[in-house]
Amino acid sequence: MSTHRQLSWEDVWLRTMKSFITSSQKENCILWKGTVPKNGYGTAWRNQKPISAHRLSWLAHNGPIPEGLMVLHKCDNKPCVNPFHLFLGTNCDNMQDAVRKGRHVGNGKNCLSSDQVNTIRELYASGKKITKIAVMFNRHWTTISDIVNGRSFT
Ligand SMILES: [Zn+2]
Repeated sequence: MSTHRQLSWEDVWLRTMKSFITSSQKENCILWKGTVPKNGYGTAWRNQKPISAHRLSWLAHNGPIPEGLMVLHKCDNKPCVNPFHLFLGTNCDNMQDAVRKGRHVGNGKNCLSSDQVNTIRELYASGKKITKIAVMFNRHWTTISDIVNGRSFT
C-alpha cells in the first residue's frame, strides 16, 4: 500500500465532474462512460473495490453517505451520475420511488426512517442549511424545518 499522499478518487472525480457540470446543464443526465454491468448502474473502482458510479458521485459532491442510506436517482436513469439528480433515501424511499414511477405496485406510504431523521438533525446541527438538506433528501424544505424543530418525525 502506498503511503505518500496522492490525489484521492474524490479529488479527481470532483475536478472532472465540476468542469463537466458547469459546461452542461443541471437538468441533463450525465451518463457514466465506464463499465455498466447488467444491473444498469455504472461501476467505478475505488481502493480495488467496485463502487457504484452514482454513489461515488455523491461522495465527491456531498461527502460520506450516512449509514443505512442509499443514493437514489430522481431521474430514474441508473447510469446517470449527475449529482443534481441524486438524493439520499432508505430502502423504503426506494420502494416508494418505484411506486411513484410506476415500476412497482405496492404501498406508497410516505415515511422517513429514524436514521434519516437523525441524519437530518445532525446535518442541521453541523450547520447545513435547511434548503440544502431538503435537496439532499428530495423533500420540501418545510418538512425538513418541521423535523429539525422537533414538530414532526415523518
Ligand atoms: Zn439523471
